[in-house]
Amino acid sequence: MRDSQTLKGSVVIGVDIGGTNIDIGVVDKSFTVHSHTRFKTDKTSPQKMLGDICSSVSRLLKHLDETGVSCEYIGVGSPGRTSDNRTIIRAGNIPYKNTPVAEIIENFTNKEVYLDNDASCALYAEKHAGAGKNVSDMIVMTIGTGIGGGIMINRKSYHGHNNRAGEIGHFIMDKNGPPCPCGLYGCFEKYASVTAFVEAARKEAEAHPGSLLFELAGGNPENIGGRTPFKAMYAGCEVSKGIIEKYIKNLAGGINSLNKIFQPQIFVLTGGLTNEGEIITEMLTPHLLPEVTAVLSPLGGRAGIVGASLIKKEREE
Ligand SMILES: [Zn+2]
Repeated sequence: MRDSQTLKGSVVIGVDIGGTNIDIGVVDKSFTVHSHTRFKTDKTSPQKMLGDICSSVSRLLKHLDETGVSCEYIGVGSPGRTSDNRTIIRAGNIPYKNTPVAEIIENFTNKEVYLDNDASCALYAEKHAGAGKNVSDMIVMTIGTGIGGGIMINRKSYHGHNNRAGEIGHFIMDKNGPPCPCGLYGCFEKYASVTAFVEAARKEAEAHPGSLLFELAGGNPENIGGRTPFKAMYAGCEVSKGIIEKYIKNLAGGINSLNKIFQPQIFVLTGGLTNEGEIITEMLTPHLLPEVTAVLSPLGGRAGIVGASLIKKEREE
């Protein structure tokens, strides 16, 4: 049995695997993240990527050990589908192939590992430490390369059969739309992910070579990133304003549809899109149904690490 003294001195290591970066940190009982480190995701092989993670976690464990703090376990959030919470079957842009992620990290660190999908981890973070602390029903939307989601119903996270629920980026907005890697056509994320936003902006810049957006891209639309149209809009670019408004309407349409199905108290938005800040909710809210509340995650860059650290707590509830 733990006494309060031990509890006070015990922490969890959270690992947030992303398609671009990996974030690792030590999470204390008040969800504060310490020793946050970030490095690029090596996508040449899962083994190489997991090797980088193990080295970084080992350094943290050694440091904790030297300072007399005990690490209870390691929580890992990763893109991709896991049916057993130990193995990632596959993921969009990391070459997993039934990779035993939890076992590999456990063998290397001698610590218990709890693994879950990154979108679920985003939900756990909001539920316990973020915008969802005082609500019973919530949808967390991760808007980046694609659109991921976490669903909370009556304070329980909903995973569905074989952990496959929550794919809120893949309901059909236009059955005649572009093909999606999921096998359907015209999925929501084809219109409302950051990838879709950037693609639309590049097309519009190409079509309007006199625009400020084109100029900001240095005359090459391929240089346009998720933030470029916003920069151009703030400087008065009407083309960019149009692109953003059209995008926001698509996003609002999806949120309104999800609201009809789930009627959550709040939608919490996370992911790359939200780096732009409050302008997103300011432009979005007029297009939402009056009963819909959409907020930005208050956790910012630490949401992934905090969420991973909460996987065990979730399993026990
Ligand atoms: Zn799809």
